Parts: sequence; C-alpha cells; structure tokens
Amino acid sequence: MKSGKLIVLTGPSGVGKGTLVRSLLTRHPELHLSVSVTTRSPREGEIEGQHYYFVDRSRFEQMLEAEELAEWAEFAGNLYGTPYFALQQGIEEGEFILLEIELEGARQIRNKFPEAVRIFILPPSWEELERRLRSRGLDSESAIARRLLRAKAEIEAAGEFDFQVINDDLEVALTGLESVLFVNC
Ligand code: ADP
Ligand code: 5GP
Repeated sequence: MKSGKLIVLTGPSGVGKGTLVRSLLTRHPELHLSVSVTTRSPREGEIEGQHYYFVDRSRFEQMLEAEELAEWAEFAGNLYGTPYFALQQGIEEGEFILLEIELEGARQIRNKFPEAVRIFILPPSWEELERRLRSRGLDSESAIARRLLRAKAEIEAAGEFDFQVINDDLEVALTGLESVLFVNC
C-alpha cells in the first residue's frame, strides 16, 4: 500500500503560513490539511471544522487526558492541538497531510513521527514580519506584542528544520514549497 506523509509547516505568526497553505491547497487539491483544536475564539470569517475546531479549556484538557492529541502547545494565551484521528488514517491511506503548527508542536511531531518532513517559513525581514502582523488587522496590539516576542524565539530555531523557505515574494515561496513537497519528498 502507498504510504502517505506528514508535512509540518512552522514559522512565526504573521509570516504567511496560512496564505501559503491556502494557495497550496487550491493548486494541489490532493493535499489534506489537518484541522487543529483550539481554545482561541474564532476570528471573523473563521468556520468551525474548517479553520479550527473551537473548544473551551475543559474540553481541550479532556482531549489531552484521553491522549487524543498528537501534539499540543500554548500560544499567546490559548491552547492549540492536532487531533490524532485524521493523521493515522490519512497516512495509511497514502495522503499527504499538511500540519500548520508552531515550534513546540513541531518538535513533538518530530519525536512521534520522525519521518515527517518539517519546513520552516522565514520572513524576508523583521520589519516585514511586523508589518504583516499589523496589516492582517485581526489581532489586538497586546496580542501582536505577544506574537512578536514569540517570533524571535521561533526564528532562532529555524535551523532545526529539514527545509527553510523565505516567504518574500509569494510565488517564489510557493514554488520553493512545491519543490520540497513534490521533488524532495
Ligand atoms: P500566518 O498564518 O503565518 O500567521 P498569514 O497567512 O495570516 O500569516 O499572513 C499574514 C499577513 O501577511 C496577511 O495579511 C497576508 O495577506 C500577508 N502575506 C502573506 N504572505 C505574503 C507575502 N509573500 N507578501 C506580502 N504579504 C504577505
Ligand atoms: P492563530 O491563532 O494565528 O490561528 O495561530 C497561532 C499559532 O498557533 C500559529 O503559529 C499556528 O501555526 C499555531 N497552531 C495552529 N494550530 C496548531 C496546533 O494544532 N498545534 C500547535 N502546536 N500549534 C498550532
């Protein structure tokens, strides 16, 4: 049977992970996106079961206790985790599954699924990362400050990853990702 793959995309908040993932899914409908569970409130336009499964803290803790999460982390005051159910089955069925998660979760995935391909998305500059976080217009100033603080530590860990892709020009970054996904793995 054809075996699938886990592809982990990590990078600081605002670097463009969501934008890249949406473009990849449009261009390659055969790719699957793992939908995470989070205690964060939905942003405008976010849809339950498509962007996230939105749960409260006690439900998240129940899932943790029942070992239903392949990885999890706290990020900017909220909990995020990847449910196991779609992963295991998807890999066995030969699917390419994208996980768009932060650094701590990516490290847990490396331990549990050593064969996962891990890609770090870098911004072209610190100034541009800050500009993108603000231009998104979805987070409060305090949330942006928390995300920037975390971004520094995350970027320092980029060297731990199998591949680094700079998201300067979107098309160039997409081509870089496609070459990792479809040529190198
Ligand atoms: P993340 O998912 O990593 O938090 P987003 O995908 O939400 O980041 O992108 C953050 C902001 O940056 C959005 O406003 C998005 O349109 C913009 N953006 C993403 N990629 C690029 C790019 N290559 N050039 C310019 N702006 C970008
Ligand atoms: P956001 O609140 O902007 O949607 O996500 C904040 C951060 O949490 C992003 O870096 C995103 O990649 C990460 N994230 C989303 N889902 C998960 C998950 O299931 N696990 C982990 N560890 N991080 C996640």
